[in-house]
Amino acid sequence: MAIIGAGYAGLAAAVRLADAGVPLTLFEATRAAGGRARRVHIAGTHLDNGQHLLLGAYRQTLALMERVAPGSSTRLLRRLPLHLERSGAFRLRAPHLPAPAHLVAALLFARGLNWSERLGAIGFALRQRLGRFRAPPDQTVAALLAGQAARARRELWEPLCLAALNTPPESASAQVFLNVIEASFAHHRADSDLLLPAADLGQLLPEPALRHIEAQGAEIRMGTPVRGLAAGPGGWTLTTDSGQRHFAAVVLAVGPHQLKAFAASSPALGQLAELHATRGYQPIHTVYFQFQGARLSHPILALDGAPGQWLVDRGQLGGPAGLLALVISATTPELAASPLALERLARAQLQRGFPNLAEPLWARVLAEKHATYSCLPGQSAPPTEPAPQLFLAGDYCYTHFPATLEAAVRSGAAAAQALLSKR
Ligand SMILES: Cc1cc2nc3c(=O)[nH]c(=O)nc-3n(C[C@H](O)[C@H](O)[C@H](O)COP(=O)(O)OP(=O)(O)OC[C@H]3O[C@@H](n4cnc5c(N)ncnc54)[C@H](O)[C@@H]3O)c2cc1C
Repeated sequence: MAIIGAGYAGLAAAVRLADAGVPLTLFEATRAAGGRARRVHIAGTHLDNGQHLLLGAYRQTLALMERVAPGSSTRLLRRLPLHLERSGAFRLRAPHLPAPAHLVAALLFARGLNWSERLGAIGFALRQRLGRFRAPPDQTVAALLAGQAARARRELWEPLCLAALNTPPESASAQVFLNVIEASFAHHRADSDLLLPAADLGQLLPEPALRHIEAQGAEIRMGTPVRGLAAGPGGWTLTTDSGQRHFAAVVLAVGPHQLKAFAASSPALGQLAELHATRGYQPIHTVYFQFQGARLSHPILALDGAPGQWLVDRGQLGGPAGLLALVISATTPELAASPLALERLARAQLQRGFPNLAEPLWARVLAEKHATYSCLPGQSAPPTEPAPQLFLAGDYCYTHFPATLEAAVRSGAAAAQALLSKR
């Protein structure tokens, strides 16, 4: 078997297949595993390509971490009960109560909302629960929230939408938003916990996963882009720079923006690549600032104003003291066009919010143009096996959740399961 792509989807598939005793070869185009959640090396520094926040509800990702490195889901992730705080103006904190009472209590005592706004938010949450978290397929988050007070939308729901779906509420899918709300708040209190990586993204899962499958005899081909994929008798022929190889089955686990390279392999892949190109992608920019020993009041804070929404204190998460990461989700095209302007605006935003911070020692802007596919209404999952013995995995294949690590992991496990069931 061959797996193309060592992002979270490809790694999840590889672990499942290796555990089932299936001989496999994993091809990864770059030199580092992790895909859109990877460690990068820039100007002599190791940084993550972006801040990755997990939720307690990400069960399959946590289980995969445990499978490849027992204890790692508690050792490498800092678990914080839901706590959203923005410069003293707004605070939502979930007390230690069973779900969904913890959400009701959090909303009831939310700082920065008046009583009528709090009760309106609680009413909204309870109505969604009564309605089994269902929304019309074509509804946007903005339409879903239309009855909410402007301040509750601005302070609470819209930041949650942007953080979870990386898509502005005006175009984001109400149904996927409700799926995330349900997964986080409807079942167990710990599902809404925020889990912040306290190790770099290479150590978090990709490197232990590679070691795990290698120990079971898998062949790992890093730095080996697959250039061609052609159906042949009894399987698929893969072309790489070092020649052709034949495999009985293939799991294609590349990002949706990378599917076009395989459009010639099967008409279904061509259509899928086109569909995603039309629906579009949302970028995420990260502006890293290294300060001399700065420390925030909390490892992650919501930000006032623009361009950033979140500030992560990497010094509190196993990184160097004073390293702050400012996160800009769904960056507008105007801002994305000029990293220098973005850095200046980010610096100004920090100065407004944290006037005591000195000049940074250095700053770096990391851009991910295709961070997530646009989470629009009406998205449906592609077939798991679009052509015989060709299985798809990737965050875009598990459309119950937005583009997340959990969606990628679930899709990889499902592709492996489908492949195993055909053997
Ligand atoms: C900056 C940023 C912040 C994010 N924040 C969060 C967050 O807070 N929480 C969250 O859950 N998710 C977050 N995400 C989304 C999350 O990272 C993705 O949903 C997830 O990593 C997708 O995994 P994947 O395996 O589906 O695809 P990818 O990670 O894109 O993996 C595809 C892999 O295939 C390889 N590949 C492509 N073409 C070929 C080829 N021809 N041959 C061989 N290999 C190939 C690629 O190099 C890559 O390694 C964020 C993403 C970014 C970029």
